Amino acid sequence: MNALERIASCMDGYDPNALPVERARGVIRSFLAPVTANERVAVRDALGRVLGEDVVSTVNVPAHDNSAMDGWAVRFADLDPRGTTRLAIAGSAFAGRGFTGALGPGQCVRVMTGAVMPEGADTVVIQEDARVEGDAVLVPPGQKQGQNRRLAGEDLALGRVVLRAGQPVRPAELGLLASLGLGEVSVRRRLRVAFFSTGDELASVGQPLAPGEVYDSNRYTLHGMLARLGAELLDMGVVRDEPGALEAALATAAANADAVITSGGVSVGEADFTREILARLGEVVFWKIAMRPGRPMAFGRIGNATFFGLPGNPVAVMVTFYGFVREALLALSGRTDDLALPAFRVPCEAPLRKRPGRTEFQRGVLARDASGAWRVRLTGNQGSGVLRSMSEANCFIVLEHERGDVAAGELVTVQPFEGLV
Ligand code: AMP
Ligand code: MG
Repeated sequence: MNALERIASCMDGYDPNALPVERARGVIRSFLAPVTANERVAVRDALGRVLGEDVVSTVNVPAHDNSAMDGWAVRFADLDPRGTTRLAIAGSAFAGRGFTGALGPGQCVRVMTGAVMPEGADTVVIQEDARVEGDAVLVPPGQKQGQNRRLAGEDLALGRVVLRAGQPVRPAELGLLASLGLGEVSVRRRLRVAFFSTGDELASVGQPLAPGEVYDSNRYTLHGMLARLGAELLDMGVVRDEPGALEAALATAAANADAVITSGGVSVGEADFTREILARLGEVVFWKIAMRPGRPMAFGRIGNATFFGLPGNPVAVMVTFYGFVREALLALSGRTDDLALPAFRVPCEAPLRKRPGRTEFQRGVLARDASGAWRVRLTGNQGSGVLRSMSEANCFIVLEHERGDVAAGELVTVQPFEGLV
């Protein structure tokens, strides 16, 4: 037994021949060593990256109290709570061009949205509520102190940790960083991922197919899924089912990447020589996961690289990738936020067959019915080699481990593909 097998086997009820999905995730999570190196990049280039350091606000955003509406800046103390108040217009303030001087008793200033609050004013009466009469403004009763005024630092206060290391940088974070006046930011270096397909039957695109051959499609789905995660990719092509070639490819991959992903070669008939090679190169466990599709999978470490040996079937590659690899690679990239895919429950249109004792990832189409309510139906052939079932789908229907057959109209868990696949 290698160290990984020993640790995994200490888990309560660990059975490598029928490992529940959640347990496999648990073992994987406890074995990851995330990237810690940082690099500085221009703010725009940080999109999709992982923050390398906490970002502390060096300014107040907004920098000054300002008006949230077009209207009149007033001193609340001047207002008659029971009747109309008449105030003298002392001037005006626009966004970027303030009112100079202070507001005296009984005075008001015309303000536009974003204008700095004139000194002495604490409240804004919106223009729709006030009436102008010559050089005076009539304010009705019922105003509230501080209304329609944004406070300095209300978005980001000086000295506050605005963003945490380990957070992903999304469009909102780009804007936040810019609102602090930052031109550069520290992010984790990109994760390097090497991947290749294994199989004597695989032909590369652009070549004619000999009898018995199939085109290598897994490398293309893997390319797409990995590219969407923002990893730096090392595509190593097709490796034949030949021990020397496989060993050399694994060693090269592990020496040049943080993570190594292969497809094929882990099913029962093929696992034996793969197992021997991996036993020599690193610490790897072979699992039969209680799931469908995607039962066989290998996981472990080769040198300093995290290794995933995915099944060969094209749908199984995608399902195991989204079930295990995606989350692991994001964690390896330095992400510290909750990485679980969003899921929610909707009624299923037609009955589904499901065997208790394994998690099934069926492919579904999430759509609205005539009344506008969301519901899901199955795509056609659910065979693990039928990639069309993924292409036609827009979500996984995740049928939980213990669950049995599903009746029409029952609630099922769905995970939308949008932004994912
Ligand atoms: P394996 O896990 O290697 O036994 O492969 C299982 C099935 O997936 C076989 O039908 C293979 O031909 C098919 N397969 C394996 N690798 C690929 C690939 N890269 N592209 C398309 N099909 C594949
Ligand atoms: Mg194979």
